[in-house]
Amino acid sequence: MSITAIKGMNDILPGDVETWQFLEAKAREVFGAYGFSEVRTPVIEKTELFCRSIGETTDIVEKEMYSFNDKSDNSLTLRPEGTAPVMRSFIQRKLHTLDPVSKFYYMGPMFRYERPQKGRYRQFHQIGAEVLGVEDPKIDAQVLAMLHHYFCEIGIEAVSLQVNSLGCPECRPAYRQQLNDYLQQRLEQLCSDCQRRYQTNPLRVLDCKVPGCRQATLDAPAVIDHLCGGCDAHFSAVKKYLQALKIPFEINLRMVRGLDYYVRTTFELVTDQLGSQNAVAAGGRYDGLVESLGGPPLPGIGFAIGVERLVLMKGADRIVPATPDLFIAALGEAAADQAFVLMSKLQRSGIRAEMDYLGKSLKAQMRRANKLAAAYTLILGEDELRSGQAQLKKMADSSQQTVALDTLDDTLKDRLTGC
Ligand code: ATP
Ligand code: MG
Repeated sequence: MSITAIKGMNDILPGDVETWQFLEAKAREVFGAYGFSEVRTPVIEKTELFCRSIGETTDIVEKEMYSFNDKSDNSLTLRPEGTAPVMRSFIQRKLHTLDPVSKFYYMGPMFRYERPQKGRYRQFHQIGAEVLGVEDPKIDAQVLAMLHHYFCEIGIEAVSLQVNSLGCPECRPAYRQQLNDYLQQRLEQLCSDCQRRYQTNPLRVLDCKVPGCRQATLDAPAVIDHLCGGCDAHFSAVKKYLQALKIPFEINLRMVRGLDYYVRTTFELVTDQLGSQNAVAAGGRYDGLVESLGGPPLPGIGFAIGVERLVLMKGADRIVPATPDLFIAALGEAAADQAFVLMSKLQRSGIRAEMDYLGKSLKAQMRRANKLAAAYTLILGEDELRSGQAQLKKMADSSQQTVALDTLDDTLKDRLTGC
């Protein structure tokens, strides 16, 4: 039996990979304009990093982590998300000493042991961004404006931005208690997960997708009605700046996010095009996280975009793979040798040139040129080698032109750019 990939882990193949490259390139371009620099961290970290940051009672830490002991018996984990590793790196490398405001982005694979389905995989990819050092609500609005700008640039508009505030360690405990009391009255209507969750992490009950839980919590107390003065003013300012920047948004009182480190502003970009995997990006403020991991007391805010979900949303609007500019068909061995040298010269000048390596007949070579959708073909035989000239055929309309072989690169460049 041949060896297959691990369940829930995908190969990204030509035909799809061009869309990935497009999404990644646009992120670099857009995020760069807002002053963000890329950080690349290892895909494996000490397990403790995720337990301490994401929270022991979250779905990720309770059941989704790929953790294992290495040969020295250290507990390691394939990163389930990107924020904790970036914070670890920020603290360890003392990046706050470089500038009081740090803006980073990252992209790469994340790992969660989930039930694989459309839009949900065990290795998936995120493009994320983080800002450290700014409490000012302007930065919350700027991060959301950047996310909005990115989605415009990649041509995905069927998303809505939902925002909420989760309060802070000052105001959340009282709210949590109130929610807890409310849930206690309705315990028998909740699913078994929520019956357990309501004590350890009652906010997560509001996020449960089971219809019974939704129904039972329709009139649950909302966190934004219980914010302290500081959180209330912060949230009002975030909304004001979003309006000033003309970024459309909705308030979603039920959005609580699944990671413990979030405080104040939280947000998701949701779509109705992906069934129950409706979140394409999510994030929020995490003041306190850097300090809790042993760093300076700096506030932070960030988001992560699920790249597979973007690719699904791009659907038919995917980026078309590049096809050869020229296919050189050679007649005989001497011509094939010449074709090989000519092709290499063209490739060095940036022209996508291709030829046959299998000793095929002229007819078979032309069939392949057609199949590859080459823009031009050139037939090279003894006559052409002798005269240094050949017929360049434009495949779209079969028109032919006599060209000199030694200036073929310039001729092709002119024709390909329409000069
Ligand atoms: P969900 O509610 O769909 O489980 P989440 O709240 O666990 O998402 P985050 O941890 O906030 O997700 O990650 C940010 C984004 O990463 C999500 O909005 C989603 O687009 C993507 N994502 C998360 N988990 C997966 C997965 N297993 N497969 C593919 N994409 C994922
Ligand atoms: Mg999840």
